[in-house]
Order: sequence, then C-alpha cells, then structure tokens
Amino acid sequence: MPLSGNIEWRERLSKLPVPLAVSSDPLSMSCLNSLIEEGRVSRKQGIELFQNPSLSSVTSLANMVKKSRYGNNVFFNENLHVNTTNICVLACRFCAFRKGPRHPDAYALDIDEYLDRIRPLSGSIDEVHTVGGLHPNWDVEDYCKLFSATKLEFPHIHIKALTAVEIKHLSQRSSMSVKKTLSLLSEAGLDSLPGGGAEILVDHVRDRICMGKESSREYLDIHSIAHDIGMPTNCTMLFGTVETIEDRVEHLIRLREQQDTSEGFQCFVPYPFLPDKTRLPEAQLATGSEIIRVISLSRILLDNIPHIKAYRMNIGDKLSSLALTCGADDIDGTVGHEEIMHVAGSSTRLDTSSDQLAALVSSSGSTPVKRNSNYSSFELYTTNNPTYSRVLPQIATN
Ligand code: SF4
Repeated sequence: MPLSGNIEWRERLSKLPVPLAVSSDPLSMSCLNSLIEEGRVSRKQGIELFQNPSLSSVTSLANMVKKSRYGNNVFFNENLHVNTTNICVLACRFCAFRKGPRHPDAYALDIDEYLDRIRPLSGSIDEVHTVGGLHPNWDVEDYCKLFSATKLEFPHIHIKALTAVEIKHLSQRSSMSVKKTLSLLSEAGLDSLPGGGAEILVDHVRDRICMGKESSREYLDIHSIAHDIGMPTNCTMLFGTVETIEDRVEHLIRLREQQDTSEGFQCFVPYPFLPDKTRLPEAQLATGSEIIRVISLSRILLDNIPHIKAYRMNIGDKLSSLALTCGADDIDGTVGHEEIMHVAGSSTRLDTSSDQLAALVSSSGSTPVKRNSNYSSFELYTTNNPTYSRVLPQIATN
C-alpha cells in the first residue's frame, strides 16, 4: 500500500478479517456491508450507531475502515499555530478566547510580531496555522499584507488560515464578495482554510451557542467557493454543548453532501467543548468514550472525506493515541503554540517534538508518516533518537 493510502479502500475493506465485535453486532455488520457495496451508512444507521450499547463494535468497524484506507499509517506534519488577535466583535457562548477591544488581555499582532513568532521555528516547520477573532478594524487588505510578508520571508511555509466566519467578516468589512475575498487572499499567499467554526451545522443549535455567526448554509457555501477556486479546506465539529444525537448526524451528513458536490475537504476534525464554570452551564459535556465514539462515527459516515484527525490540542495526547485505533488516521502536528484550546482549559503540551509525536503514534501500534499540508507528499518517519520509545520493564522468563 502506498504511504498516502489506498483509494480502492472498499475492496480492501471487503478482504479484511472481521473482528468478533463487528461480526456479533447486526447493526455494525449491516453498516460494513453498506460500505463495501458502495452504499452509504444512512442517517438512521448513524443515529443507531450513536445509541449502540456496544462501543467496541463501533470503534472496531471504524478501525477497519481506517485500516482499509491507510493500513497502519498515521499522518502528522510539522507546523506552528499563530493566533493573530483575540479581539472579536462576536461573543460565542462556548468561546473562552475572545476579548473585547478594551479588555486588559486583548491583543492584536502586527506583521512584525507575527513574523517574529514564525522565525524561530521556520527551519523546522512547513505550515503556519492562523485563526483569530473578528477584529473590528481589519479587512482583506490587512490580511493580504500579512500573507504577502509571510510568503516573502518564508516561501516554503504553507499558510492555512482564516475560518469561514473570518472570511465572511473580511468580505463584509471590504464590501466584496466571498469569491473575490478568497481570490485576493490566495494571490497574497493563503494556501488553504482550516475548518474551524462549523460548530454544529444546525441553525437552531447555532442560535443557542453562537448567535451572530455565519449560518450553516453560509459555512458550507464559503468552503464550497474555496473548493471552486482550487483552495482545499478542512471541516470540524464542536460537540458536547446543547446538540442532540440527531443534530450530530445531521452535521456529518451535511458535510458529506457538501463533499459530494465540491470535493475539497481534506480532513475532518471533531472536538468536544472544553467547559469552565461560566460558559454554557447547560452544556451536556462529552465523556471520553463519547469522544471516541464521535471520532469512530465520523470515520464510518464520512466515506468521502479522506482524513479524520485526532485533535490532541483539545482531547489530549492520551485520548488521541486511543483515537488512532478507533478510526482517526491523522494527528495534530508539532503545533508549538496554541491559545484557543489552552485558554479554554486544554493542558496538552506545546513543546512536543517530531520524535515525541512519532513515539505517541507508535505507542498506538501505528506507523508515523510525516506529510505536507495538502497531503501530497509523504515520508515514513524514522528517528535515531530512541529516548521517547516506551519500554516497559519485563519479568524475564526462561
Ligand atoms: S468563536 Fe470565533 S467568532 Fe466566536 S467569539 Fe470566539 S473568536 Fe469570535
């Protein structure tokens, strides 16, 4: 199998041994047969998988699908997160990151400060991931200048930046269409869009958790326009707030339908709401097993989105390692710096080296593969540094 995976995954799926957890569960067997026969796991099956008392049957099925696509390979890249500003004109109820312009902790990086963040790591990364608040004064021109300056100094670095709601905000600030906005940003150096801001693509849920943000349709349309101009994007899901199982399945199906049309989603990144005492007290927080189930369900339902990411900035390294055996084939990169999840309570380390990341991947029984941002270049990761390989003490036997 090539490092990038095998597009004939359905055929490979039909030839994999079926674990007992799947073969003994009629629902999982019926979903497996649907996937093998070019059919799809339906909305009804998706809801039933969410309710299925056998978590192991769901995770085992998802692992089969992952293995049929990528074997043991798990992908990561070497990247850096830089958040441009935490000043935001909106106040989504789940967001611990945003600040009002007069808040003592409010900040907005200028171009030099932004480049200063990248410079120390520029020799070891090939992607900068940049999202931020909706700054009341910034427009398309500001971001074009930022991206042009970044490409001028770091031409080898892929710029993945601006969520759909940021694109909408900039297009409104600059009184231009979304297509024109994306085209200008692309000319200035923007390479791809991250998937943030999808939350739950059901408007009555959005009205409760992020009133004023783009609608579900707008989120999908902005990504579709990006795909139309040849710009790949990711997509996400924020779960564990006020949504129902039906809402989660609706979200996945809307992404799947969009991908049928525009085909530009590279990776799906599901992550749970990180709570504190003040925001969204009515949230129905996701447990560890629920997080794993959502990742598994994503792999099973999103048959046309190539990659499913274990977002360790949010779910932590331990759960991420487990997720790699339950359908996820991709894990965040080295990241280096991250604010949005950490200000919300994440304690995931930010100084993880490539060797440590590879060791984390290996600990799940997977093979670490370094990739570039748009999944077009792959390299088996080998380390000469065994420091991070875990070797448990063993009682000698004769
Ligand atoms: S989630 Fe984004 S748009 Fe919403 S308040 Fe936070 S920074 Fe602003």
